[in-house]
Amino acid sequence: MQYTILPNTNLKISRICLGSMTWGQQNTEAEGHAQLDMALDKGVNFIDTAEMYSVPGNPKTQGSTESIIGSWFAKKGVRNKMVLASKITGPNRFFEHIRKDLSFSKEALDDALHKSLKRLQTDYLDLYQLHWPERGVNIFGSRDYIHNDAWEDTIAATLEHLNLYVKQGKIRYMGLSNETPWGAMRYMEEARKGAPKMVSIQNAYNLLNRRDEIGLSEVILREDLGYLPYSPLAFGMLTGKYLNGATPRHARVTLFPNYSRYHGDGSFEATRKYQEIAQQHDLSLTQMSLAFIRQQPFVTSTIVGATTVEQLQENIGSISVNLSEEIITAINTVHATIPNPAP
Ligand code: NAP
Repeated sequence: MQYTILPNTNLKISRICLGSMTWGQQNTEAEGHAQLDMALDKGVNFIDTAEMYSVPGNPKTQGSTESIIGSWFAKKGVRNKMVLASKITGPNRFFEHIRKDLSFSKEALDDALHKSLKRLQTDYLDLYQLHWPERGVNIFGSRDYIHNDAWEDTIAATLEHLNLYVKQGKIRYMGLSNETPWGAMRYMEEARKGAPKMVSIQNAYNLLNRRDEIGLSEVILREDLGYLPYSPLAFGMLTGKYLNGATPRHARVTLFPNYSRYHGDGSFEATRKYQEIAQQHDLSLTQMSLAFIRQQPFVTSTIVGATTVEQLQENIGSISVNLSEEIITAINTVHATIPNPAP
């Protein structure tokens, strides 16, 4: 495993982070624990979860992923070996079963954080992230930005609330997710005025969605932020498993067809081309896709997801794959002709 320091923290994290959002629906507790065991064994010390998991969001299974991680900590006694990240849910009418108030008010943060800590059977989180901004932004597949004049800027107040938990020892650091360059810089502005600094941004980033290279990568490097890419395999598309009209059994998009973000024509076309490159160089498309992300200078640790230990083994194994200039040039040539088919 390779390790790095999450910028502006004293957290030493593996460059592969274990995502968890399938545990509690697609995966049982035993399967989640088996993935955690394997990850720990292979040197992965960084876990990402959220109060809204497992996915798809559902009142019956909400919180199940954190509970599965909590029962693993209780069983194994390894909380202090792991760097644990979770998230508070942002505004979205589909998640009102979690809380009526899905803002980042003091009341909402109190409710979210304390319930997460209880389910996770721990008294602190290493990283607490805002799952998506309070204001409307173009995320989760939307290309266009629709401006909402009515949003009231609560960023300074949110930082103040979060800082109380830092002082109480309940969270060590705070981070962002699904954030834009404007949002990131707005938080940095508060940090320059003396507020605590958001240390990381967790966004979708993969070969079918390289949008963050355009604006956010510079913000990440110049502001010394951690970047934690999620969905690095585009929901499994970048394993090649959906090519040639395949509908693999038990696979995410077969089970949940409305998860179609990475299933547009452009994504299939680009994936076929990326697969050709991988085959020409005797690589698995999966490992080539993960290595490409890890090799970007603005990427801190890639959040991988898996539904079997075999998948997880392949994904963690990508840590020792290094793409040559020739392969990167070939990838960039495809990207130039089919840029960001799945934003
Ligand atoms: P992903 O890499 O795009 O997709 C992972 C899925 O692809 C697996 O669940 C599995 O699904 C399939 N897969 C993975 N490895 C494979 C392999 N080697 N061979 C064949 N199939 C493979 O990642 P993701 O699950 O979307 O996201 C990873 C993590 O990021 C999540 O667990 C979560 O912690 C985080 N995340 C955060 C946000 C956010 O808004 N902040 C959003 C999404 C995810 P099947 O077996 O079902 O095909």
